[in-house]
Amino acid sequence: MAFLEMKSVNKGYGSANLRTEVLNDINLQVEEGEFIAIVGFSGSGKSTLISLMAGLITPDSGQIMLKGQEITDPGPDRGIVFQNYSLLPWLSVAGNVDLSVKQVFPKLSRAERRKHVEKYVDMVNLLPAIGKKPHELSGGMRQRVSIARALAMQPEILLLDEPLSALDALTRAVLQDEITNIWEKDRRTVIMITNDVDEAILLADRIVPLKPGPNATFGPEFKVPLERPRDRTAMNDDPEFKKIRNAVTSYLMDVNTEAKSLNVNTNIVLPDIQPVDLSAA
Ligand code: ADP
Ligand code: MG
Repeated sequence: MAFLEMKSVNKGYGSANLRTEVLNDINLQVEEGEFIAIVGFSGSGKSTLISLMAGLITPDSGQIMLKGQEITDPGPDRGIVFQNYSLLPWLSVAGNVDLSVKQVFPKLSRAERRKHVEKYVDMVNLLPAIGKKPHELSGGMRQRVSIARALAMQPEILLLDEPLSALDALTRAVLQDEITNIWEKDRRTVIMITNDVDEAILLADRIVPLKPGPNATFGPEFKVPLERPRDRTAMNDDPEFKKIRNAVTSYLMDVNTEAKSLNVNTNIVLPDIQPVDLSAA
């Protein structure tokens, strides 16, 4: 039995006459401790996929199982980090992390909670800013808070929805390293959505491409057998790295071209309206 499993999952939005079929026949098996990267085009249904695993929405058909249990609603066993750091603006760094700790570990004393919060704030190197409010932090720091908050719940699985996409390249690189370090120490199962193929290769054990929608399905996965720790600079010259990057990139380009040519041929049903002859009046 896989740790996380998606079986023939379908999901669309809207009702009969105004419906978008987003995901179609999604199948995925993730083992405990694996780091999976999902790459795909904007609008293809990546956030929908994460929301399904998080239990924020439910599939129209098919099943999602975590350790053999069907996921039907959100739970503390899944830590989520979104692209747009969803922090409460009136709470400090500590306050934002503490909020989820309080929920998940209600029995901890104040002092124990404080210690727990500090441990995770330290893990993302934010102790010097622990008393600051979100508006006093840079984008990278805010995203660190989101990561600390998710980690502090000690979830079984981390669901990361393009957590680094909004950041500049340097901050992004620093956070990639932090995520790797934390993952290596803690060995949680991670599913990370990213739009960056290099990032996927740097971090993941496997890369699963999501084809363009509507009715997006997974393409064939790419294994990343590169040794860890992986060094960003050394990797650029590694023939194995280049091979994987080429394979993933050309696959994505091919399915994108294919999807575009399909969309050109779709029949657009025009509304049946009779023009009024204005000159007749
Ligand atoms: P991605 O994260 O890959 O950019 P999303 O999962 O956010 O894609 O969206 C996939 C498709 O579903 C898009 O066409 C989007 O407009 C549509 N969509 C997403 N959420 C909703 C919603 N709550 N209601 C209706 N349509 C939605
Ligand atoms: Mg998205």
